Amino acid sequence: MTFAPGTANSRIPTTLFGADERALVAQFVDERIRPIAADLDETERFPEEVYSEMGKIGLFGITVPEEFGGVGGTALDYLFVMESLSYGYASIADQCGLVEILGSLLSAYATPAQQEEYLLPLLAAEKRCAYAMTEPGSGSDLGSITTRAERTATGWRLRGEKIYIHNAPVADFAVVLAVTDPELGKRGGISVFLVDVDTPGISRAYHEHKMGQRASQIGGLVFDDAEIDESALLGEEGKAFGYMMKVLAKGRLGISGLALGISRAALDAAVPQSLDRHQFGRAIADNQAISFSLASVATELQAGIALSVSAAQALDAGDADAEVLCSMAKLNASENCVRHTDAAVQVFGGNGFIRGYEVERLYRDARITKIYEGTSEMQRLIISRSLLRAAG
Ligand SMILES: Cc1cc2nc3c(=O)[nH]c(=O)nc-3n(C[C@H](O)[C@H](O)[C@H](O)COP(=O)(O)OP(=O)(O)OC[C@H]3O[C@@H](n4cnc5c(N)ncnc54)[C@H](O)[C@@H]3O)c2cc1C
Repeated sequence: MTFAPGTANSRIPTTLFGADERALVAQFVDERIRPIAADLDETERFPEEVYSEMGKIGLFGITVPEEFGGVGGTALDYLFVMESLSYGYASIADQCGLVEILGSLLSAYATPAQQEEYLLPLLAAEKRCAYAMTEPGSGSDLGSITTRAERTATGWRLRGEKIYIHNAPVADFAVVLAVTDPELGKRGGISVFLVDVDTPGISRAYHEHKMGQRASQIGGLVFDDAEIDESALLGEEGKAFGYMMKVLAKGRLGISGLALGISRAALDAAVPQSLDRHQFGRAIADNQAISFSLASVATELQAGIALSVSAAQALDAGDADAEVLCSMAKLNASENCVRHTDAAVQVFGGNGFIRGYEVERLYRDARITKIYEGTSEMQRLIISRSLLRAAG
């Protein structure tokens, strides 16, 4: 038996996706994503045509029930899709992850009218979304947000600022976290709103330029006494944290898949290079310093897949430890992926540092996985709290 890089598609198993769907995803990644990844990185372009195609072939809303326009798959299927897309290019997987989180929120908590207006066009890639939580003074500590939504005679008035928001420069609508009762704060005083970004009083601020995943559009949103309708409230007032908890674990599972996809791409690039490149009269792979490094990456990648798969299965089964397993999966895959891409750059030597080599981009794309969707420290906090609670 061989463990052959470059020939195998994703090693993540699936539930609903059969051989045909798996082949379709692999073909889409090989033909539509991998050939344009370097250009997207260079130009920071939003690949609208790719997302439009993903909407048509059913690569958005993997776990969203079919009656809402989703695929009706499992968390395991979602993990597979994220890993596969990221093998092509992480920014495209990240778009899939964003839509998955908002699709999950809207299918669970939106009214039928909100679902018609936002969810169906979102999954068909006809509308673009943003998930606006982070603020200049509130990142890991989301309970400290200050964006305020005050009741008015006809609805709500929004005031505040969000930063580092994925899709903010291009979004049609945003799902915004805001304080509705400062007395209660994170204990029932934070709510979620669905707002059209072209509403008077809402503006897009600074379009960020990033180290990696450069085709993901990141920017700020400013709410300057924006008047929004009563119907903009998502679900019940004060329930934001409960709603978020339901989708954040899935979000973290998705980022674990994204990180695993980057690691697989790095390994697939490094192995042939180690055989092709000769120094001192032999392939550099003939040195154990190189071949053992590749063996470690392959082993950790396979172990990471096993952990992420167990987290996905726990989510699908509704297990009590699913949230902690998703944190473990994200922590493990993201920290490994930073080291794996570093190992791949090392195999390429000087070329690994040069623009145009895939591993140079993968190294940059990997770094954010330890930060967004909850930093590594926040994942360790979740895991250690659960450990200590169980023991105490
Ligand atoms: C590319 C990109 C895309 C993003 N997309 C979105 C998006 O779509 N929507 C959105 O709302 N946000 C988004 N974010 C924001 C992202 O979620 C935050 O950057 C992240 O949660 C960390 O918050 P922070 O940057 O404020 O860091 P901070 O919270 O200030 O943390 C700084 C450092 O301190 C550590 N730290 C903080 N508190 C503790 C503690 N108690 N114990 C130990 N260590 C601690 C952190 O782990 C980190 O290492 C995005 C960010 C980036 C860069």
